[in-house]
Amino acid sequence: MFILLLGAPGAGKGTQGARLAARLGVPKIATGDILRAAVKAGTPLGREAQRYMDAGKLVPDEVILGLITEELAQPAARGGAVFDGFPRTPAQAELVDRTLAARGQRLDHVLLLEVSDDALVARLQRRAAIEHRSDDTPETIRTRLGVYERDTAPLVAHYAAQGSVHRVPAVGSVDEVAAAIARIVGQ
Ligand code: AMP
Repeated sequence: MFILLLGAPGAGKGTQGARLAARLGVPKIATGDILRAAVKAGTPLGREAQRYMDAGKLVPDEVILGLITEELAQPAARGGAVFDGFPRTPAQAELVDRTLAARGQRLDHVLLLEVSDDALVARLQRRAAIEHRSDDTPETIRTRLGVYERDTAPLVAHYAAQGSVHRVPAVGSVDEVAAAIARIVGQ
């Protein structure tokens, strides 16, 4: 089963994605995690990505499309995966759709985690205090929320047209949101 988690930064995609992937027995693929690991390791990918990440901007599609292609080709992701943090642009969505279609597969569910802007900012500020991510500063948080609205939120319409979007009010406890997701996914 292939599941896409959509939602603004701070909506809980990472937390819920990890739980869902474990329950379904499929990998969670998070481009943000891969990029952060690349930055830490100082690889060419990391060096290229870091300035965009630190500014709260999207890493260009020229860089990300290759990364997505590689990740989808992993044997572990052959039968299913939970996608966290991608696709984030129309070009990325098209690549994912096309790659799965070529394998006779499709996104089974697109889950849109919905949280109010005030709650997102509060969550991201809490995370900043715990994880010390370089892109959880107040200014970068604002930029990232704006980038989400402009570049990524329009993907909801793209997937809604395919009839696969479920809106999940992601406001209760982690367990409550996980239960709501489990009801939708039905497993
Ligand atoms: P995330 O952990 O998903 O919030 O991603 C952190 C940062 O990594 C983002 O603000 C972007 O700079 C970059 N990033 C992660 N995934 C993508 C993607 N699919 N496309 C472009 N940039 C990305």
